[in-house]
Amino acid sequence: MASARDYDLLVIGAGSGGVRAARVAAGYGAKVAIAEEHRIGGTCVIRGCVPKKLLVYGAHFAEDLEDARRFGWHVEGARFDWPTLRDNVLAEVTRLSGLYTQTLENHKVTMLTERAVVTGPHSVRVGKRDITAGVILIATGARPHVPDSPGCEHGITSNEAFHLEQLPKRMLIAGGGYIANEFAGVFNELGVKVTLVNRSDRILRGYDAQIRDRLLQISMIKGIQFLFNSPIEKVVKEASGALTVHMPGGPVECDALMFATGRVPNTGGLGLESAGVEIDSNGAIRVDDESRSTVPSIYAVGDVTNRVQLTPVAIREAQAFADTVFGKKSTKVDYSCIPSAVFSHPPLAGVGLTEGEARNRLGSIKVYTADFRPMKNVLAARNERALYKIVVDAASDKIVGAHMIGPDAPEILQVLAIAVKAGIRKAQLDEVVAIHPTMAEELVLLK
Ligand SMILES: Cc1cc2nc3c(=O)[nH]c(=O)nc-3n(C[C@H](O)[C@H](O)[C@H](O)COP(=O)(O)OP(=O)(O)OC[C@H]3O[C@@H](n4cnc5c(N)ncnc54)[C@H](O)[C@@H]3O)c2cc1C
Repeated sequence: MASARDYDLLVIGAGSGGVRAARVAAGYGAKVAIAEEHRIGGTCVIRGCVPKKLLVYGAHFAEDLEDARRFGWHVEGARFDWPTLRDNVLAEVTRLSGLYTQTLENHKVTMLTERAVVTGPHSVRVGKRDITAGVILIATGARPHVPDSPGCEHGITSNEAFHLEQLPKRMLIAGGGYIANEFAGVFNELGVKVTLVNRSDRILRGYDAQIRDRLLQISMIKGIQFLFNSPIEKVVKEASGALTVHMPGGPVECDALMFATGRVPNTGGLGLESAGVEIDSNGAIRVDDESRSTVPSIYAVGDVTNRVQLTPVAIREAQAFADTVFGKKSTKVDYSCIPSAVFSHPPLAGVGLTEGEARNRLGSIKVYTADFRPMKNVLAARNERALYKIVVDAASDKIVGAHMIGPDAPEILQVLAIAVKAGIRKAQLDEVVAIHPTMAEELVLLK
């Protein structure tokens, strides 16, 4: 694609979406540059999915070591060292960031490691340079939202949680979404006294109610304290260094306060208004089903568009963008049946309609559940039950939703999601012979 402009494509943000779009567009022969103000890899690699999952693995050893005794293993003097886990995780993050950088280099994508600001439909200011491009892709992601009540600046977010000097004795986590619950699980397993406070009366909005309740119940048994209907009014830093968090039910003292109170699209100060790019009331870039903004030469993918804030979705959108604009194959992302997981202790996952949604939309449904204690938990004397649930449209016998909580639930659900997406009927699930003994066999034995 020859042009008088500096690049065919300039991508802002080298995260999940930006890197995929840059690489694929370059593969189609486009001259591509990518601007990144922090680190190549973006949220998922640097301070999201990857380091989070590694911490979840690290934290789970607490239970594994406890359970080991019932299996005849005596691990004397086991102790946990936070700096070892933290530094190993951060080193892995650096390794992965290096691999992303290499991928971009291999595809001859020019990396500009500075903040970029849009200055017009075809122009961007990167650091002190003005750059022109045929197409601009905004893939700047989202950032943690911190409430503006007095003293909230004393809190941290997930960004800082990966870098803690030492583990606090008492931690208050504000929020009820997946990030709040995942970090609550991690820090609780690592011996921190965790209190999760939420301004509403429930956790994990959007997930099936029965599955959420099971996590709440197990989390409480594990020692996590929950305070609902508790918006934070103010935070006071005491002379001792402790924080007193004031809420309608009374103050709670902690040594660290973490906000996991949602993520807002990174559109502030990006110059979008001057270029004519419209954003919605949440600050997200408005795009059509080909990810094109209100300015024809400017596109946006990933969290900055606030469609579904997940890495695989950002990657899909980026791939579709590159295929459509540079591969000349018009491609649209299918947002139906996107599975997702919460890497809590134990983890949970879901795809399709929850029981409540299915009841409202379809009227007549059938619900099949398996509520059981996994074999390993039985021998470990761990009183923790798994729950699998399949929601079926009574008229067609089609499976419209699947939800589960228990060991390895995300791994199992990923495979089940294929069947749900393919629209299989419950009778077809019943035709499958079980693999015994497994937890997943419960899915083909649901009566
Ligand atoms: C703690 C945590 C855990 C998560 N866990 C999961 C999970 O388990 N599974 C999952 O699917 N998703 C998870 N996510 C969400 C996932 O990380 C995001 O959905 C995904 O990274 C979005 O990709 P993106 O390309 O839109 O943006 P990002 O990956 O956020 O990349 C945006 C990049 O743009 C850069 N940038 C921003 N503004 C500018 C500018 N003006 N100039 C230059 N560069 C700029 C940023 O520095 C960043 O590197 C998690 C997120 C968090 C915070």
